[in-house]
Amino acid sequence: MIADISFDGGEGIAASQSGTNLQQQQQQQLLQHHHQHQQPVTLSRYESQKRRDWNTFGQYLRNQRPPVAISQFTASHVLEFLRYLDQFGKTKVHLHGCGYFGQPEPPRPCTCPLRQAWGSLDALIGRLRAAYEENGGLPEANPFASGVIRVYLREVRESQAKARGIPYRKKKRKHRGNSNLNSSCSNTSARDAEASGSSSNRSPAQ
Ligand SMILES: [Zn+2]
Repeated sequence: MIADISFDGGEGIAASQSGTNLQQQQQQQLLQHHHQHQQPVTLSRYESQKRRDWNTFGQYLRNQRPPVAISQFTASHVLEFLRYLDQFGKTKVHLHGCGYFGQPEPPRPCTCPLRQAWGSLDALIGRLRAAYEENGGLPEANPFASGVIRVYLREVRESQAKARGIPYRKKKRKHRGNSNLNSSCSNTSARDAEASGSSSNRSPAQ
């Protein structure tokens, strides 16, 4: 099983691990293809996660055939990225035909697929949306803030809540730190932090 990219459960996607000082460089090397490996700095968990996510997304774009420039991706690429990440998910989402559909705690394993939990995707999009603007993208052209992404996330949230029998608003009270059941209802607070800060006039949508 590929465990490299796996943010279900809160660890974040981590395919690319460059410790870089983006803040110093973002004004000069906005939205370019590059890996920076100098000046490791101490970042908050959120900041480093955001950076890893941004790098992973950039890598995903470069791995497309043909490669997609970071200055040219659209909301469609973001959607494909989210679907692509499902293969690394750890959250069981029952199919309609499964006898455990809607059961929060099935007595036995089933063959339904593992997916990324809605909460993980939602938090990821929040981080990427902030990273996009910090890297010079214009807020009004931010593909991560696009309506189709919002709709997709809402659909994922609702379908997972039904399939797993777990209302997405329900707070996990017990088993703190025990994540056998990857809760799909946390990690939403990161999305609105850090949305401002950098300013640049480079539009990635051109
Ligand atoms: Zn099932």
